[in-house]
Amino acid sequence: MTETVALREVGMRDGLQNIRQFMPTERKQAWCAAEVAAGMREMEVGSLVPPKLIPQFADAEQVIGFALKQPGLKVNALIPNLKGAERGVALGVHQLNYVLSVSEGHNRSNVRRSTQESIDDFKRIVALRDAQPKERRPTLGCGLATSFGCTIEGAVDEKRVLAIAEQILSAGVDELMVADTVGYADPAQVRRVFTQVLRLAGKVPVAAHFHNTRGLGLANVLAALEVGVRRFDACLGGMGGCPYAPGATGNVVMEDTVFMLQQMGFSTGVDLPALLLVRKQVEADLPGVAFHGDVARAGLPKTWRGNLAAAAE
Ligand code: ZN
Repeated sequence: MTETVALREVGMRDGLQNIRQFMPTERKQAWCAAEVAAGMREMEVGSLVPPKLIPQFADAEQVIGFALKQPGLKVNALIPNLKGAERGVALGVHQLNYVLSVSEGHNRSNVRRSTQESIDDFKRIVALRDAQPKERRPTLGCGLATSFGCTIEGAVDEKRVLAIAEQILSAGVDELMVADTVGYADPAQVRRVFTQVLRLAGKVPVAAHFHNTRGLGLANVLAALEVGVRRFDACLGGMGGCPYAPGATGNVVMEDTVFMLQQMGFSTGVDLPALLLVRKQVEADLPGVAFHGDVARAGLPKTWRGNLAAAAE
């Protein structure tokens, strides 16, 4: 039997949030539809931040409304706070993803409050979720940013990562995302941290969110895979580089991740040749934006095993 790995496209959030040119609403929707048609089952399609903070997401309502009509798609949106959560609930988003930084300095510079205050805010969001009628209740994810290091504080204590994970788990999170926001993680660290987080989480799903900033993105995916992680965030064309580091690569490249996993015999549900066409479409819609990835450059090898998902269905 083929083992499945769940992939979540985060490009429409993590990728677009760093791009100043506004991607027209209709082109965002076209991206979403095309990737769903290529087999993507889960996408984070925007961020429910105040539009004046990130104008790119001023059309979040329209994009989310469109995404919710895509067959079989689990629609995710990022929420910065309780207000964002309220917007998400009103829209009927399937999963709301809250983010806090394990590093105190990063959390303060990002949201101007302590990590503990962010955890307390998360508990209020859990209460909001629980107050919804069952059929309208979203699942709630929580990302632990800077779990592997921080641009402000440097090293981040692994014990602190676990202590915060424990608090978020006991608060009632539905999915934990352990994130290397700044591209500091290495495979040995990834093995250590995920082994412990998976043990803590028990039945609660744990996803890995890596950036390829220093070229270790796929190595870290593999390390997490080897200790049992079966959920990964990735981004079409590896978008999402830091706006302050021109040319820096962003998220792990979705196409390369699909290639590695399917070549190793895992099923992702994604049709890779179709995904490479989606990449072409989105690249054409975002002139001047750097797209990364090796499979797109080199093409598929003669030994390509094909889309195992289709074979397994
Ligand atoms: Zn990210």
